[in-house]
Amino acid sequence: MTIAVYPGTFDPLTKGHLDIIERAAALFDELVIGVLFNSAKTPLFSVEERVKMLEKATAGIPNIRVLPFGGLAVDFAHSCGAKVIVRGLRLITDFEYELQMAQTNRKLAPDVDTTFLYTSLQYSYLSSTTVKEVAAFGGDISEFVPAFVEEAIRQKLREQQR
Ligand code: ADP
Repeated sequence: MTIAVYPGTFDPLTKGHLDIIERAAALFDELVIGVLFNSAKTPLFSVEERVKMLEKATAGIPNIRVLPFGGLAVDFAHSCGAKVIVRGLRLITDFEYELQMAQTNRKLAPDVDTTFLYTSLQYSYLSSTTVKEVAAFGGDISEFVPAFVEEAIRQKLREQQR
């Protein structure tokens, strides 16, 4: 049984993430999505909110689990019994950082390998940061995130404005 982990911040979950999740779940026996809680960035959504978001969006896919994690992705992989870390690659600019991280992780844990899935073309421009920026200025984000995530972002922004 091959278990893979897909670590990320997912603040918020986008259709680009979901595309990678659906494709990775079809490749591995089990996919554990790791939601990072000790990120250097200050997230818009708490880790609990992000875990719930991912659980809701992936409820129809039986071989997926969603867990919060902190610390090293390789430690998270070990704790899940995973031999594979999945990462998504968008533009060539992702490549340098992702390669460096994959090689570092391999040095830290030679029993865990990283595999990259190239983004589907229609999501290659999409990032959580862009989604938040567009939403903050009142732009239409319905193409970028599931409808319930769009509503959660709008609600969060309304709360922040109070
Ligand atoms: P991180 O902060 O770890 O980069 P993200 O939540 O931004 O976490 O992304 C998690 C993973 O999903 C990363 O591998 C990232 O490259 C990938 N990813 C993000 N957006 C997209 C997208 N639009 N298409 C494909 N992969 C993506």
